[in-house]
Amino acid sequence: GVLIRETIYKGHGSYGLMLNLQLGIRYTVGKISQEPRHEIGSSDFGPQACVELRFPRSGSRLTPCHESVDFRWKDYCPKVFRHLREMFKIDTADYMLSICGNDALRELASPGKSGSVFFLSHDDRYIIKTLRKSEVKVLLGMLPSYYHHVQMYENMLITKFFGVHRVRFVVMGNMLCTDLHIHRRYDLKGSLQGRWTDNGEIDENTTLKDLDLKYVFQLEPSWREALLKQLVCDCRLLESQGIMDYSVLLGLHFRAPQHSATLSPELSTVPTNLTHSSCVTYANEQEMGCSHRGLVLVPRQPGNETSTPGLHVRGSPLRAPAGGDGEVDLLLPGTARRLQIQLGVNMPARADRRFDENDACREDKVLEEVHDVVLYLGIIDILQAYGVTKRIEHAYKSLHYDPLSISAVGPKVYAKRFQEFVSSIFPPTTNQTN
Ligand code: ATP
Ligand code: CA
Ligand code: CA
Repeated sequence: GVLIRETIYKGHGSYGLMLNLQLGIRYTVGKISQEPRHEIGSSDFGPQACVELRFPRSGSRLTPCHESVDFRWKDYCPKVFRHLREMFKIDTADYMLSICGNDALRELASPGKSGSVFFLSHDDRYIIKTLRKSEVKVLLGMLPSYYHHVQMYENMLITKFFGVHRVRFVVMGNMLCTDLHIHRRYDLKGSLQGRWTDNGEIDENTTLKDLDLKYVFQLEPSWREALLKQLVCDCRLLESQGIMDYSVLLGLHFRAPQHSATLSPELSTVPTNLTHSSCVTYANEQEMGCSHRGLVLVPRQPGNETSTPGLHVRGSPLRAPAGGDGEVDLLLPGTARRLQIQLGVNMPARADRRFDENDACREDKVLEEVHDVVLYLGIIDILQAYGVTKRIEHAYKSLHYDPLSISAVGPKVYAKRFQEFVSSIFPPTTNQTN
């Protein structure tokens, strides 16, 4: 459960794999972005929508020469993913720079038990995960429904997928990509059986589990409501696809006492015409030493005034300046507009104890003292279908444990338990002024 990030240098075991996927993505994304755009239809999904290509070492008419071995590349449903990237407000040039630029990717040392290899882009925005054949199958099978779901819900909590390719892997958004430091991370399923981390020090690189979570979180009521509503919609999609074993990835940033939380999202000063691609520069840029491109404030569409401005809980959106928190002046380039924006829109919350004093779960001293937190969360690892293997695991484990507490249950039971668990860590607010 420990995440160690290792730069992939020349001679590293994953160096060849990294070069291949960088070459492949550069080619694919570049090519598709030159094609005329058209509406997505059913022929854009499924096996006939795959594009295959060889990348010989010596180069070819379509591909550059390279220093890796000859490899075959396959793009699954490139048109669909192009649309998805657009819907997720991913800028093509940025995407290529993050993944295929000169900076190497980093490898996360085996974060899961499945044996998948994980890479992280140098800017932390993207995670690349190698997949099993069965997982690619599940992903392609659910792609039409997933696509539809993304169109329906701009605040979807589920992992954002940006591309699937062979050498078999998926590119997805990093749920915990933020300039705020993530002090603790939890991988939560709502199944209590065996869900705690092994011995060892707890720190920001440890992935903690259900039984390690000692706190519940009080959110501003409208955020809580929006979050739980979205959770229901997202679980409905996963259940309909026969998926189980997914998790909520929850990241906590502890606020310094001087940035003590206000639970209300103060986004009323955000203009409605700000779009995701607006290049936003901090007015006091010299002081901050940075400008931020691609700031996403999810513009409120006309007729959609009820959309909750605070629910920017997925990986990409608003990035506060490093160490910064609070209100800043923003200057929109090309205009004389100066905007006041309250940062901390990343779901501030108050942490309260979840278990009573004499429970068995381990101490984590930091959490004893901190109560104001900023939350990041999303649903990850959504490509496990309830197939034969899981059924056998369930049958076997039911002999030893309470069948409802183990993680290998059917998708319906799984979704229900998952929702109940997540709801239980976001209880209704009891005392808002304190
Ligand atoms: P298993 O099936 O045994 O759970 P896995 O190989 O399928 O393992 P995941 O559960 O997908 O792995 O991920 C393992 C860990 O990697 C997560 O607990 C989380 O810390 C990190 N991780 C995975 N996906 C993301 C993501 N999209 N954003 C941020 N972190 C992620
Ligand atoms: Ca998992
Ligand atoms: Ca998995």
